[in-house]
Amino acid sequence: HVRMLNALKGKKTVTHSGQAVRLYANIGRPSDMDAVLGNDAEGIGLFRSEFLYLESDDFPSEDRQFAAYREVAEKMGGKHVIVRTLDIGADKQVDYFGLQAEDNPALGYRAIRICLTEPDIFKVQLRAILRASAFGNIAIMLPMITSVQEVQDARAIIEEVKTTLNDEHVKFNKDIQVGIMIETPASVIMAEELAQVVDFFSIGTNDLTQYTLACDRQNPHLKRFADPHSPAVLRMIEMAVTAAHRHHIWCGICGELGADPSLTETFLKIGVDELSVSPGSILLLRKAITQA
Ligand code: PEP
Ligand code: MG
Repeated sequence: HVRMLNALKGKKTVTHSGQAVRLYANIGRPSDMDAVLGNDAEGIGLFRSEFLYLESDDFPSEDRQFAAYREVAEKMGGKHVIVRTLDIGADKQVDYFGLQAEDNPALGYRAIRICLTEPDIFKVQLRAILRASAFGNIAIMLPMITSVQEVQDARAIIEEVKTTLNDEHVKFNKDIQVGIMIETPASVIMAEELAQVVDFFSIGTNDLTQYTLACDRQNPHLKRFADPHSPAVLRMIEMAVTAAHRHHIWCGICGELGADPSLTETFLKIGVDELSVSPGSILLLRKAITQA
């Protein structure tokens, strides 16, 4: 079995009928890179940057962040590395942010909402990501987007940081791609408009399931009701992919559902362009797809 999977390393992920899917990896820290390279990931579809903040007792410096992003970008050797900006709040709490306790943290002050409210925190991370973009093929991904305005506001801050780096003669990729996570129902409903202001979509099925089905992802008593196979969730996914393709951008899945082999054919039929999964699932999925 292991030998059979090893034989798939270095192979493209293409179905019998010639449909290609990119198999990327989700990572939480640079030390995950051994597993990424060992399992032949075609890119990093989700680099959760929270570890920098969660494993620190104060805001991580620009240089510390830069070193982490650069290490991953260099190890991927020109392959795509999609860095998701800060997704603190809700299930990911950090003391030094001084966030107020909330009755409904999942519906609260988190992720892009913090970044847009406190741009000074956001800018440190953006500087680090942009500087690292000179060392590989990095893209920026914004979490928890619900409107076009949020994207425009975030893009304005990105442009401001680029201008500053330019003035400082610091190298970065001036054409860095900016995409968003599709993980709120609002982002699906607005997908047509959003697809016109970003370079790619990546569907976060963990949060999309939570918000679509109104089921707290942390609550084990809701298992029966929080079914990501629900037609409501699958239809959301299809809507996002269709809108993306109509506007000539790609759409992937980086939530856990992407690794569910019972849905692989469905995702192929819908036309999902990329599946970003934990490194250990990559070769199993490649096997499933090449046999589909
Ligand atoms: C998701 O919501 O599906 C996702 C990939 O992000 P996270 O699990 O980090 O919220
Ligand atoms: Mg999420």
